[in-house]
Amino acid sequence: MDKELGGLLGTRFNCECGRRHELPVREFVYEAGAIEALGPLIERCTGGVRRVAVVADTRTQAVCGAAVGDVLADAGYDVESILIADLHGKSPKCDDETFQTLRRAIGSRKPHLVVAVGSGVVNDLSKWVSFDLGLPYMVVATAASMNGYSAANVAPTVEGVKTLIEARPPLAVLARPTIIAAAPAQMTAAGFGDTIAKFFSRADWVTNTLLLDEYYCPFCACLIERFEHLFLTRPADIAEGKTEAIDGLFEALFWAGVAMTLVGTSAPASGGEHLLSHTLDMVADTRGWGHDLHGRQVGLGTLLAAALYDRLLAIESPTVAELPGGIDRSWWAGERIADAVAAQYQAKQPVYRLAAERIRDGRFWESLRQRIGPIVIAPGRVRQWLTDVGGAVRAADVGRTPDEFRQAILHAHEMRKRFSIIDFAWLIGILPGAVDEIVEQWFA
Ligand SMILES: [Zn+2]
Ligand SMILES: [Zn+2]
Repeated sequence: MDKELGGLLGTRFNCECGRRHELPVREFVYEAGAIEALGPLIERCTGGVRRVAVVADTRTQAVCGAAVGDVLADAGYDVESILIADLHGKSPKCDDETFQTLRRAIGSRKPHLVVAVGSGVVNDLSKWVSFDLGLPYMVVATAASMNGYSAANVAPTVEGVKTLIEARPPLAVLARPTIIAAAPAQMTAAGFGDTIAKFFSRADWVTNTLLLDEYYCPFCACLIERFEHLFLTRPADIAEGKTEAIDGLFEALFWAGVAMTLVGTSAPASGGEHLLSHTLDMVADTRGWGHDLHGRQVGLGTLLAAALYDRLLAIESPTVAELPGGIDRSWWAGERIADAVAAQYQAKQPVYRLAAERIRDGRFWESLRQRIGPIVIAPGRVRQWLTDVGGAVRAADVGRTPDEFRQAILHAHEMRKRFSIIDFAWLIGILPGAVDEIVEQWFA
């Protein structure tokens, strides 16, 4: 683990951004003996906890859920093993129904601590239920698939609507490197997609400081840069299972989640590129579209953000376009979803007005280009990275036709009130006009 960053675990510190940040995650154990270290670690972090609920799904139970239970039982803990069941032969989802089922299962056992064993969905559900029941939780990670381990947020689907819930981060994140390396290759490639999103979430964040006076923390925005040389110079190393690259990716994912926890929003690791994934998720059920892994979809969203920034930076003097006053309700398939999306879009109208005002100021445009230019990555390079790592590179790779993908691109800006590159592209007239060319060039 990075020594300097490791010193921040479990502390509060004054930051160059002027704020005092707090990191409630106390321990990060990424080593061969991580699972065996769990007993003493629980003792250190909680002092006196006896009854522990170990939550897994059928896959992660087999990977190491059972081993975690055994280790804890041997260390003298009362272990309640809780399995999140598959639904119709498919792996569980992080939605309100599954949450209620898990809440009943954990609540009835009255544990003092929840230990999640898994990755995205198992971690998110355990975090959410623990927070709701007022219980501390820890996670034993099983894949380098996303950056949510150390984050406070949960992003579930509630009544069909993709929501963001502010919960609490875990007390500790543990993982055995050989387990992370042995996870399905698609999951590791997904984690890579979630990580390279950072270039564009940072560009969005900087844009928002210039356009909308949003708060910005340079330390949190750049927190994971120190790990990038381990996996970004040669993403194929990840696909080939090289230890150094996968370890570097896992550390980057952990600290990307920390950055979000420190700032208290998802701004350091999530911008317009994430909206494409959220949009695909949100209409997946109503349209009978399958879900793909978060990070695989985010990888494609990152390619979209790259293509949009590429066009934006080429503009010498922008003109502000007239935006539609409301959303396209029929596309969102379902009244409840359309209502939630419409409310977000409505809340964004004053933001659009302020942004438009700033864009019309010619002096502002040049400084924006100077700040953003060095941050973003060219779309061709992003595509090469995704290809090398074995991630999704075309719409078909996440099960969508080019036209379905085109539709998702054209509606992604409607669903969140925070300003992103997708809004920006609409505001200066890149979208909707360029969507066909972008889909044809990058996603068909
Ligand atoms: Zn800061
Ligand atoms: Zn993400």
